[in-house]
Amino acid sequence: MKFKFLLIPFVVAALGLFPARAAKLRVVTTLTDLADFTRNLGGEFVEVRSLASGVEDTHGVPMKPSFVTLLNRADLVVLIGFDCEHVFLPALLEASKNPRILPGKSGYVDCSQGVSPVDIPKSTDHSEGDVHPYGNPHYMLDPLLAKTAVGNIARALIAAAPEHAAEFVRNRQGYLAKLDAKIIGWEQELAPCKGVKFVSYHEHWPYFAARFGLQYFGTIELKPGVDPTPRHIEQLIASMKSERVPVVVREPQFPEKVPTLIARQTGAKLITLPIMPGGVPDTTTYIAEMDYIVHTFAAAAK
Ligand SMILES: [Zn+2]
Repeated sequence: MKFKFLLIPFVVAALGLFPARAAKLRVVTTLTDLADFTRNLGGEFVEVRSLASGVEDTHGVPMKPSFVTLLNRADLVVLIGFDCEHVFLPALLEASKNPRILPGKSGYVDCSQGVSPVDIPKSTDHSEGDVHPYGNPHYMLDPLLAKTAVGNIARALIAAAPEHAAEFVRNRQGYLAKLDAKIIGWEQELAPCKGVKFVSYHEHWPYFAARFGLQYFGTIELKPGVDPTPRHIEQLIASMKSERVPVVVREPQFPEKVPTLIARQTGAKLITLPIMPGGVPDTTTYIAEMDYIVHTFAAAAK
């Protein structure tokens, strides 16, 4: 009797009675900001999982075997692009054996489409440790560029589940309107900080600085993905002192020791800023994360 029940799904599948995919679109995102956007856009029609939890290095999310299973079942994989995820994503995609989400397929959603990167290096070679081979991938910290990513995700959802297009379009309009209102508030809050100089551990902040009129003075890393040398730290401290740089940003995925030392020696304020939702407590959404960044920066730059 049990055996017969077990056979039923196979018979139904053979007759073509199973839907082509699950009732909800299964979406896997590399980072938490992309997951938040997808949930806002897809609502009840999507099931979203992010590989990162928010505290990881965007260039090196530690791989888990469960990621392969998630990606194997996914209808869409949503990523930052510009090779931001090159250390972990290509290997996971290969292991997932899911042809629908490979590069070039409609299930591979590269959110950088339509974004012009800054700081493009002369070489696209990873061998020197440079993790920004196609330019800086941290455009999500400019909320106007985040809107481009939102548009790309919405387009992919509509293509994957056209029967819900009206809902996806409505959700996109609603979310972008909410974001636009927040952007006005963030610009107002950071207006008194125009021209304020700051350094950070990793080169996360050129788009943020450009959007809000801040001066991105330099990084503690020698270059993206390459640890600082004692000489570089010494030079950075000297130039920060002579230029009176008042803020040091440390991102949660990097150790506190060197940023603390630099802040102490230069008299700058040390602040910890998330680079995606979940990076610090109470920042589970993109808007909450950007609120936190703007409030914390504005308070430190006073
Ligand atoms: Zn980076």
